[in-house]
Amino acid sequence: MLKLYNTLTRKKEEFIPIDKEKKKVKIYTCGPTVYNYAHIGNLRAYIFMDTLRKVLEYNGYTVEQVMNITDVGHMTSDADEGEDKMEKSAKALNKSVYEIAKMYTDAFMKDIKALNIKLPEHVVKATEHIKDMEEYVDEILKNGYAYKTSKGIYFDTSKLSSYGELSRIDLKNQLAGARVEVDKEKKNPLDFAIWIKAPKEHIMKWDSKYGLCYPGWHLECSALSRKYLGETFDIHTGGVDHIPIHHENEIAQSKGATGKIPARFWCHVEFLLIDNGKMSKSLGNIYTLEDLQKQGISPLTYRFFSYSSHYRNKLNFTWEAIRSAENSLNKLRDQIDLHKFEKNNPIEKEVLDDYRKKFLDAINEDLNMPVAISIIFDIAKQKEKSNDYYELVKEFDKVLSLDLDKTSKMRENKLEEIPKEVIELMNERKQARDNKDYSLSDILRDKIKEKGYIVIDSKDGQKIKKV
Ligand code: AMP
Ligand code: ZN
Repeated sequence: MLKLYNTLTRKKEEFIPIDKEKKKVKIYTCGPTVYNYAHIGNLRAYIFMDTLRKVLEYNGYTVEQVMNITDVGHMTSDADEGEDKMEKSAKALNKSVYEIAKMYTDAFMKDIKALNIKLPEHVVKATEHIKDMEEYVDEILKNGYAYKTSKGIYFDTSKLSSYGELSRIDLKNQLAGARVEVDKEKKNPLDFAIWIKAPKEHIMKWDSKYGLCYPGWHLECSALSRKYLGETFDIHTGGVDHIPIHHENEIAQSKGATGKIPARFWCHVEFLLIDNGKMSKSLGNIYTLEDLQKQGISPLTYRFFSYSSHYRNKLNFTWEAIRSAENSLNKLRDQIDLHKFEKNNPIEKEVLDDYRKKFLDAINEDLNMPVAISIIFDIAKQKEKSNDYYELVKEFDKVLSLDLDKTSKMRENKLEEIPKEVIELMNERKQARDNKDYSLSDILRDKIKEKGYIVIDSKDGQKIKKV
């Protein structure tokens, strides 16, 4: 039984999809705003969405997933204030907004690939769905959940008795004037823009029945999720920062247009911290995957590192911790490699099934990846080497996506240094020992010595050293 924590109910619940007959799961994931390179904090959110989908697939579900690409409408403050992030970045780099969007979307896709993240079935750009969004606004207006001001169209939060149900904070007591200038035309301080009249200097704008406008950021997720997944679907994912504004407003919009909360499960991933603090430009600690690679840390090490904490806990990044993760992953791969070639040592089915059960229990307990990883370590370090263990780890790696079947670079280099004929002699010797032909084994040991290498028989098999 798969259990997931649902932010909406604040409970771990058994996951049963809407379409339980066909075992089909529909997921919507809030995607990147492509105004800059994704940092490793952002990437934690996408590793989470991918792990979730692979856990579902491991449980036999077919997944249909949508992820948006925000290339318009996300203001420097999530609550509609400030400049459009895309336009600000375009101005700074003296490029067009579309060039910026392409550049950062391409970079994002590269990161996704390097992290072994499976691309959602639908990756959809906001700017290619302006008409869908306009229609969504029409519906909200027609149903009486929005009103016009001189600045555009605003969602009327007072029409919903339950506005704020996801974050459960007393939104009514949060005065709008506390942080941002009060807009006197707004009926309620928490009302938010869904369709915004573009000022003259605004670059991204579209002709609509309400004039030259651009969409509010929250709108795209409501319109796109409905278009590709229907009015209600199974799971909505995003970072915890989305809970109080973005997802709250998505729920409001959906209620305004369809009367329904769009997703049954709302799953949120906690923040990545750097040296126990926030990532910020002023501290110069916003790292990308490329920054890690420059320090010799592979992208999959970052994925491995992300499993060291449960997704609902904060994860603290330090260079020391990531370097130790790099070593640990290499060692793990080396240990798994030793199982690979031991083809004549079958392991009892009960032993393998016991591991399978433990692994499934861990991932189904709201994605308890730290426990799942400890099971892999346990298998890898088994004294008795067997290809069955290697195959078992490969099976679990369908979820983990760490390329655990790959020989580590360290080991590859070591293996490369050994001449081919010596490796062949070692293989022959292993065969001889398996057949208990120890005199042949000794002859082969001498031959290896003539080539300048000494064989040591250890519990992990033959080891070799230069004379
Ligand atoms: P953005 O591109 O700014 O819309 O953010 C993309 C995703 O990254 C969202 O799901 C955010 O919630 C998430 N996110 C942003 N900062 C962090 C962080 N430090 N740790 C984890 N997730 C983050
Ligand atoms: Zn969203």
